[in-house]
Amino acid sequence: MAAWIGLGANLGDAPAAVRAAIDALGALPLTTLSAASSLWTSAPVDAQGPDFVNAVARIETRLTAPDLLRELQALESGAGRERPYRNAPRTLDLDLLLYGAAHIDSPTLTVPHPRLWQRAFVLLPLHEIDPARVPEAALLAVAGQRIARRP
Ligand code: ADP
Ligand code: MG
Repeated sequence: MAAWIGLGANLGDAPAAVRAAIDALGALPLTTLSAASSLWTSAPVDAQGPDFVNAVARIETRLTAPDLLRELQALESGAGRERPYRNAPRTLDLDLLLYGAAHIDSPTLTVPHPRLWQRAFVLLPLHEIDPARVPEAALLAVAGQRIARRP
């Protein structure tokens, strides 16, 4: 199954954390990395602290969606993520954006990710690796958000 993961970090060495997490996704059990976007820099949305470093990765996995979410949370913990309060700055955030064409609505997992279409920091990196998944209108809808591809 193809799955798309949104990565974000805004504490410590955020670019290094995102790069390491992309590598770690490819090393998950039953999983290979099939594409990774550039790193992007975005202003915090509903969050605090320094600018975020973001990316989107596509994996090919035989993990179920709930098992994949558990693996993502283990990687977040391994990167030293703490949750002192909602939307706190974070060393690493991994969101399951899409899992094939699945629609999932459980207490712990919503797929497609509910805020996917509102966030330039997800849509631009996703468009970079899979343009067909992001309609032009979706890009226009987030055109006011500050985001730039890192040199
Ligand atoms: P956010 O990513 O919205 O800033 P968190 O990473 O702290 O906030 O949210 C994590 C919670 O969101 C987890 O408890 C997880 O169960 C839930 N969740 C629901 N759907 C998803 C998804 N598609 N990807 C990641 N976490 C999800
Ligand atoms: Mg998250």
